Amino acid sequence: MTAIASEPRPLALARPVTSLSGVGPERTALLAKLEIHSVEDLLLHRPRRYEDRQRLLKINELQPHDSACTHGKIVALGTKWFRQRSKSIFEIVLEDGTGRLHCRWWNLPFMEKYFAVGDDVLVFGKLLQNKPRTIDHPETEVLEAGEEDFIHLNRLTPIYPLTEGLGQRWLRALLWRTLQACESVVEEPWPAGFRAANASGALPSRAQAIRHTHFPETLGQIEQARVRLALDEFVELQRQIQTRRKNFEGKAQGLPCGGNNHLIKLLLRNLGYKLTSSQTNVLRELRTDMSGAHPMRRLLQGDVGSGKTVVAACTALMTLESGFAVALMAPTEILAEQHFTTFSKWFRPLGIEVMLRTGAHKLSSAEPQAVKPPAASEAAENRDETAVGGKPGLIVGTHALIESSFNPEKLGLVIIDEQHKFGVVQREKLLRKGQYPHLLVMTATPIPRTLGLTLYGDLDVSTINELPPGRGRVKTFVRGQQQLPKVWEFVRGKLSEGRQAYVVYPHVEESGQLGVKAVTAEFENLRRVLSPFHVGMIHGRIRPQEREKIMAGFRTCELQVLLATSVIEVGVDVPNATLMLIENAEQFGLAQLHQLRGRIGRGSHDSFCILIGEKRTKAAQQRLRVLEETNDGFRLAEADLKIRGPGELLGQQQSGMPRLRFGDLTNDLGLIEQAREIACRMLR
Ligand code: ADP
Ligand code: MG
Repeated sequence: MTAIASEPRPLALARPVTSLSGVGPERTALLAKLEIHSVEDLLLHRPRRYEDRQRLLKINELQPHDSACTHGKIVALGTKWFRQRSKSIFEIVLEDGTGRLHCRWWNLPFMEKYFAVGDDVLVFGKLLQNKPRTIDHPETEVLEAGEEDFIHLNRLTPIYPLTEGLGQRWLRALLWRTLQACESVVEEPWPAGFRAANASGALPSRAQAIRHTHFPETLGQIEQARVRLALDEFVELQRQIQTRRKNFEGKAQGLPCGGNNHLIKLLLRNLGYKLTSSQTNVLRELRTDMSGAHPMRRLLQGDVGSGKTVVAACTALMTLESGFAVALMAPTEILAEQHFTTFSKWFRPLGIEVMLRTGAHKLSSAEPQAVKPPAASEAAENRDETAVGGKPGLIVGTHALIESSFNPEKLGLVIIDEQHKFGVVQREKLLRKGQYPHLLVMTATPIPRTLGLTLYGDLDVSTINELPPGRGRVKTFVRGQQQLPKVWEFVRGKLSEGRQAYVVYPHVEESGQLGVKAVTAEFENLRRVLSPFHVGMIHGRIRPQEREKIMAGFRTCELQVLLATSVIEVGVDVPNATLMLIENAEQFGLAQLHQLRGRIGRGSHDSFCILIGEKRTKAAQQRLRVLEETNDGFRLAEADLKIRGPGELLGQQQSGMPRLRFGDLTNDLGLIEQAREIACRMLR
C-alpha cells in the first residue's frame, strides 16, 4: 500500500485492485461485479447512504417509526418455521443493559449462519413496535473485537452497495486503508488556477471530495463532495465530446452543398403555404453550415407538428442543387414510406429521383402518384442507388440503409428523422457511407437541456419554436374505462362531421400469436361499435404491402378510423385525423404520449385526444392530467425526466454514454453548463 503513494498518480490510481493488500483473486472478481476494477474505481465507489453512528441510541431510547442506530449483545436467537416449513422467521434478541430488542427476518433462514450468541451487533432500522421492542429486517453489522472501531463507529458511517460475498465492514476498511495510502496522489484534473476561477469557490478539492464521500465529518460535506465529483465527471464528458468534434473538424473539409436556390424556389412556390419565420430562420442557419468549412453537425429540434419535414426537404434540395446525393433515414417503415410519398410528390416534378429502401423494399423508385410494389423494381437493385441516370437523387429508408450494400456515390447529406429512436452508433455508421457528408438530425422529443448538452453535446442545435398558423386547438381529456360508451358516442359525432380518428392500443404485445389475437379481437369490437364507419388496423406484424394499402386508405379517407399499436408513434402526418383515443394510456411515458398526440392537431379543425386510464391506478391518472394541462412538449419532457429518469429519453443512445456515478442528468443542469465552459477553456 505504501509503495503506491510514491508512484505518479495515473499509475497509482490506474492499478488494478489486486495490487491492494487483502484483495486476492476471489475478491477481485467480486469487486468486478460492482464495476470496481482499478484503485480509482474503488475510491469512486459511492456509498448508497450514511448512518449517523456518532451517537448510538440505547435500546430503551428507540422511538417507534424512527430510523436509528443502536447496538447490543445477542442473548438468544433462533428460527421459527410454520405453514409446513414454507415460511419462517429468524430472530435475534439483543440486550444492552437498558432493554431488549428483537430483530426479525422473514423467510431468510440462512441469516442464522451470520450470528452467534454473545456477538456484539450494530443495528440500523425502524422500531416497529414497543412491546416487545421489535425491528423487522434491520441492517446489521457484527462488531468484531480488535477491529479498528474508529473506521466503523462514532462517525457518519458509509454504507456501500455490496454484492453477495463482500462484507460491509471489509469494504469499508479497505476504503479506509486505500484512502490513507492514496489520498495524496489524487490530483486536480484541471490545470492549476482553473478551479478558483470557475467552480463556485466553496467546492472542495478532488482529494477532499473523495475523502468526504467516504468519511464525512458533517452531512453538508457529503453533498459538496458529490457536487465536486459530479462536476469532474461532466468536465471529462464535455472534454471528450469537444475533443471528438475538434479532431473531426481538423480532419474534414465540408462539401460545398449550399446550393443556388433554384430548386428550393420551385418547391416553395408549389407548397401551398408559406414557411413560418422560425422555419426560415433555421434554414438560414442550415445554409450557412452547408457551405461552411466543416461538415455540418446539426440537431434540429421542434415540437411535434412544427414542420421539420419541409425544412429537411429544403436542406436536401440545397445538396441536390450542388450535385450531391442525399440519404434520409427514419426509424419505422411506416414513416419511411410516408416520407417517400411526400418527397416523391415534392421532388418528382423537379426532375429528382426519389428511392425507398427498407427491410420490405429492397429498392423502389418513385412513381408520380403512388408507392410502387417492391417486385416491380427488383431490376433496380444493381444500379448506382443514388445517382440514377448519372444524376444524384434522394434515397429514403429505415436502418436498412445502414446495411453494407448501400453505398452511394457523392453522398452530400445524411438526414436522420426522429433521432431519439436511433443510437449514436447507427448515426455514425450511416455517416461513414460517405466522405464526411453533412449531418442533420431531427427530433420531435424536445430534449431537456441536460440531455441536450451531454447526449447531443457534439451537435449544434437549431430550434423551430412556433407552430404553423391556422391550426385547430388540441384538447386532451383523461377518462376512465367506464366512460367509454360516452367517448364512442363523441367519436361517432366527429366522424360524421367528416373527421378521422386514431385508436391506439399501447398494451398489445406485438410479438407472438397472442398479441395479434388480442388486437384482432379489438378490431372486430371496434368495427361493431363504430359501424358504419370504416376501420383499418395496423400493427408491427402486418405485411408491408397490406400496411401501405391501409395507410393509403386512411390518407384518402376511405378508412375513417385507424386502429393501431404504437407503430404510429412517430412522424405519421394525416391532417384530417383530429381524434385520438389511447387505451391504457398510463402504460406510456408522458413524452411518448405527447408524441402520439402529435399525430392530431395538424389541420385547421380542433382536435381531441382522449386518454383512457384504468380506474384502479389513481396515481397514474394523476400523472396523465399533466397532459390535460399542457401541450408544451418541452415541459412534458422535463416532467417525464423527473418522473421516470433519463432512461426512456436516452433510449438506445445510452450505449454512447459513459457511466455517471455522481452526476445526475435530471437535476444537474447548472453543473453541466459549468462543465462545458470549463472544458471549452481547457481545450483553448
Ligand atoms: P414534424 O415537425 O412533427 O415532423 P411535419 O413536418 O410532419 O411536422 O409537419 C406537420 C404538418 O404541418 C404537415 O402536414 C405539414 O405539411 C404542415 N406544415 C409544415 N410547415 C407548414 C407551414 N409553414 N404552414 C402550414 N403548414 C405547414
Ligand atoms: Mg416529423
